[in-house]
Amino acid sequence: MSDSSENKSTLESLLTDDPLSSSFFHYSKGKRLQEKISIAVCCILITINAYYLWSYFVSSQWLSIFSSAILGIIFADFISGLVHWSADTWGSVELPIVGKAFIRPFREHHIDPTAILRHDFIETNGDNFMSIIPALTYLAIYFNIKEVKTIETNYNLLCFIFLLSIFIATTNQIHKWSHTYFGLPRVVVFLQNIHLILPRKHHRTHHVSPHESCYCITTGWLNYPLDLIRFWYWLELTISWLTGQKPREDDFRWARKVNSKLK
Ligand SMILES: [Zn+2]
Ligand SMILES: [Zn+2]
Repeated sequence: MSDSSENKSTLESLLTDDPLSSSFFHYSKGKRLQEKISIAVCCILITINAYYLWSYFVSSQWLSIFSSAILGIIFADFISGLVHWSADTWGSVELPIVGKAFIRPFREHHIDPTAILRHDFIETNGDNFMSIIPALTYLAIYFNIKEVKTIETNYNLLCFIFLLSIFIATTNQIHKWSHTYFGLPRVVVFLQNIHLILPRKHHRTHHVSPHESCYCITTGWLNYPLDLIRFWYWLELTISWLTGQKPREDDFRWARKVNSKLK
C-alpha cells in the first residue's frame, strides 16, 4: 500500500473510530428519508414560486428586479461566509449537538477536503434544502392571500427572497463542485469560469492553513471586499475583546491531534 493510501485509511479510521464522531457518522435511514422529503418539498415550492414570479413579471421594470435578485445572491454569499467562518473559528468539536453536527464537518473538511465528494446529491443538499422551506412556504402563501396590488408593490422584495433561498439551498452543491476536478458538466465549468458560482481556483485559497480567508462559498464574490478590509479579522478581534476567547484555538488543537496520529 502506498504512503498516501495508508494515510487515507488511517485518517478515515481516526475520524470514524473517534467516539465523538460515532453518532455523527451514523447516516441513518431516518436521516436519509428526511433529506429526500426536504428536497422533494423544496423542489415543489421552487416550481410554485417560480411560476408566480413569472406571472407577475413586468418587463419594463427589469433593472430593479435584476438588482433585487443580485442583492439576494450577494446576501446568500454573505450568509455562507458567516456560517463557515463561525464554524471554523469558534467553539469546539466536543460541544454537545452543535459540536458534532455543525462544527465538526467544517473542521474535518480542512483535513480531508475530498470527503465531500463521497456524498451523493441527497446527502450533500438535504439539510440546505430543508433550511429554506419556511421562506419558500411563506412566499407561496403570500402569493395566494395577498391582493395583486400588494404583490406588485413588493415584487422586488419577493425576487430578493426567492434568489436568496435558491442560492442558500445550492451552496453545498456549489462548494462540492469547487472541489471536483473530473467529470464536471460543461455548464458547471462555464458558470465557475464566469464566476457566477464559486470557482475551483478561488476556493483553493481557503484551504491553505490557517484557513482564515475566502470564507464565502456560494459565489465567493464577497471574498474580495471582505478580505481586503480584513472584515473577519476585525470581527474576531471584537469577539475576543468581548469574550476573552481566542479564534481557531480548538481547530489548531484538534488538527494537531489528528496530524500527530497520522505520522
Ligand atoms: Zn473552512
Ligand atoms: Zn472546501
